[in-house]
Amino acid sequence: MDIRNCPNCGNMFQYVGSRICPNCVKKLDEDLQKVKAYLDENKGATVAKVSEECDVSVKQIRRWIKEERLMFAPGVDTGLVCMQCGMPIASGTLCDKCAAQMKDGFDASVNRNNPKPQPSKPKSSDSSLHLSKYK
Ligand SMILES: [Zn+2]
Ligand SMILES: [Zn+2]
Repeated sequence: MDIRNCPNCGNMFQYVGSRICPNCVKKLDEDLQKVKAYLDENKGATVAKVSEECDVSVKQIRRWIKEERLMFAPGVDTGLVCMQCGMPIASGTLCDKCAAQMKDGFDASVNRNNPKPQPSKPKSSDSSLHLSKYK
């Protein structure tokens, strides 16, 4: 049995693949619903404001954004930046531009790996000439 200390509440719990205890998983889920509901009513709210109003840590909100479980309005400073170019982003880990580039790069590398067309076989028209010598 793998018993761990929950980093969130400090309680011991049986580890089943989640970083935190089942109680905290449940609480976090409720917090996420609360934050989502708040953002629905307050479009354009900042991370700091949501953190204050919903009593959820900024760190936790950023984690949800990275996990793409939470979406802020475009232009809201989430404190997250594109890991490729450093531009502020609203969700995930890449800005739209870099995400598109990443996809293009992937497509290009796939094309590069395609086998080249076989070179056409050398003409064998004169081989009959050579053979005719031995006739
Ligand atoms: Zn806990
Ligand atoms: Zn970028």
